[in-house]
Amino acid sequence: MYNIVLFGPPGAGKGTQSEKLIEKYSLTHLSTGDLFRKHLGEGTELGKLAKKYMNEGRLVPDEVVIGMVEDKINESTNTNGFIFDGFPRTTAQAEALDKMLSKHNLQISGMIALDVPEEVLRLRIKERGKTSNRADDQDDEKINTRIKVYLDETLPVADYYDAQGKLQKINGVGEIDKIFSDITAVIDSY
Ligand code: AMP
Repeated sequence: MYNIVLFGPPGAGKGTQSEKLIEKYSLTHLSTGDLFRKHLGEGTELGKLAKKYMNEGRLVPDEVVIGMVEDKINESTNTNGFIFDGFPRTTAQAEALDKMLSKHNLQISGMIALDVPEEVLRLRIKERGKTSNRADDQDDEKINTRIKVYLDETLPVADYYDAQGKLQKINGVGEIDKIFSDITAVIDSY
């Protein structure tokens, strides 16, 4: 069983690579951003709560995210493992994830971090904004906030896994298939 944290700033290509990985390894894709967008679209209470944070590019409070992830893990009993995409985004979330997994006798196999320079991220997010209908992809101020939140609050999560000897960095710029094969080489080494 593989339980992989796919890590990187907004626009790093986590969603694109996750789609390919779940197909190759028959994993469950657990994207907290996608789950929140689903709640938002369905107008649930959780969606309403998350909306104001998401639209500003700020993080939804830890306890809300953690509860949502725990529900998803508990309902995905028959799986070969998980790709965590956009989660954990704080050290508190990473600690909570370790606890949740250990209840099921599971653990994180490793974190794969996509390395992409800031100017490339900005270009990619704006390009995606033309078709994604995401309010947070379309305005410079929101994009700036998301990158700042990533640097201030999310980057320490890489240190958390590094301290456990579980961090591998991958160059996230170039051909999608080349990046994918670099990622699969890491996974196949677990
Ligand atoms: P994403 O699609 O991963 O870029 O997430 C879009 C937005 O959803 C983020 O800017 C946050 O507002 C919220 N979000 C997604 N995942 C998390 C998380 N793990 N912790 C807090 N907020 C999150």
